[in-house]
Amino acid sequence: MDLRSHYPYWLLRHGIINTYPPLTENIKTDVAIMGGGITGALMAWHLCQAGIEAVVVDKRHIGMGSTAASTAMIQYEIDIPLYKLEKIAGEKNAAQSYLLCYRSVLDLKAICKRLKGDTGFALKPSFQYASFKKDAAGLKKEQACRKKIGIQTEWLDEKAMLDRFGIEQYGGLLSERGAELDPYGFTHALLYAAIQKGLKVFDRTKVTDIEHSHKKVILTTEDKKKIQAKYLVIACGYESQQYISKTVQRLHATYAIVSEPLSVANLWYKNCLIWETQTPYLYCRTTKDNRIIVGGKDDDKSPAARDAALTQKTRLLEKAFHKLFPGIVFKTDFEWAGAFASTKDGLPYIGSIPEHPRTFFGLGLGGNGITFGILAAQIIRDRIQGKKNISENLFGFNR
Ligand SMILES: Cc1cc2nc3c(=O)[nH]c(=O)nc-3n(C[C@H](O)[C@H](O)[C@H](O)COP(=O)(O)OP(=O)(O)OC[C@H]3O[C@@H](n4cnc5c(N)ncnc54)[C@H](O)[C@@H]3O)c2cc1C
Repeated sequence: MDLRSHYPYWLLRHGIINTYPPLTENIKTDVAIMGGGITGALMAWHLCQAGIEAVVVDKRHIGMGSTAASTAMIQYEIDIPLYKLEKIAGEKNAAQSYLLCYRSVLDLKAICKRLKGDTGFALKPSFQYASFKKDAAGLKKEQACRKKIGIQTEWLDEKAMLDRFGIEQYGGLLSERGAELDPYGFTHALLYAAIQKGLKVFDRTKVTDIEHSHKKVILTTEDKKKIQAKYLVIACGYESQQYISKTVQRLHATYAIVSEPLSVANLWYKNCLIWETQTPYLYCRTTKDNRIIVGGKDDDKSPAARDAALTQKTRLLEKAFHKLFPGIVFKTDFEWAGAFASTKDGLPYIGSIPEHPRTFFGLGLGGNGITFGILAAQIIRDRIQGKKNISENLFGFNR
């Protein structure tokens, strides 16, 4: 699959952080992880911390799939608001899903604290404004639902919003818990730490065949090398769908731009993550070198049409940002596009399916792919250790 196009900022910023060899011999391991993006790296880190032997293989260079394209806003807010998710998944499951994501932001902070390397992690509040006057009521309902499960937010009316953000809209919900990350640097930092604990990483190694049995899983690579493992974790991002008979994801195209560095350091309230209620939503965040990332304008274009539309989408994103912040001069420095997959209920798919024994899937789909990646790593690690994880049923394939 053509996962992304043009030049994501993180790749230009870092270049090659580390090189890993391709697989050139047959090997055996406890857990084989297919996919060396942020989900595979989180998986590897969690397994190695638990003392479990693991190997990561990726057909691309490490982190060069969707991970490199991510704008990496770390939010507990799932694409479907809590008050709507309650109707789809039931009150208990919706609450649990939100609370798990809420906790994940701090789990990520704790992981980053233990890593060497540039993870770009910073805690940041998250602010969702009402795109239209009629959306304000939904946001207030959302605030009440979150309060009921112990998540506090602050309602900013039009005046408070103008004071703190300089945005003229219809009010919005401010949540103190959120974060930003450098997804590409973080992925390499996770793998570096896991390698110190025995992880082996092979990139430019494409898995072309998988043999699942009740005793072991055997992967065959394009170069006809074999990896025998007790368990397999499929963390192939949006390319994982091909291994699952049920259609679990819907593919879209999404677009992002990054500004030149700005001379003013404080652009809006705590330089927090900003997004809106309409779908697809416009979002923005800042970077450590004082740039602004703006993303959105999603559509259903094919990869070729997506790439052809990039310049036009850049202009649309610039225009939308300018409408929101007429006082900030935004000059685009980098632009890119990428595939993006969502699920019907906004929740990820994490777990196993009967037709593939000894195999777990970690599919962080939707706008919270990274937050879901942390949950996937925790749930699958527990399953491999034979422990029950209370959250595994929430995200299973038979929901
Ligand atoms: C523009 C954009 C903005 C985004 N913004 C956000 C955001 O703000 N917050 C957020 O949480 N998420 C965001 N996302 C989503 C997020 O980027 C993804 O959820 C995340 O990167 C998925 O990581 P992954 O490791 O699962 O997949 P990937 O990074 O795609 O990694 C999967 C890897 O599997 C490998 N692979 C596939 N098939 C094989 C095979 N047969 N053999 C070997 N290797 C294989 C691929 O080469 C790839 O490297 C955004 C995505 C895009 C495109």
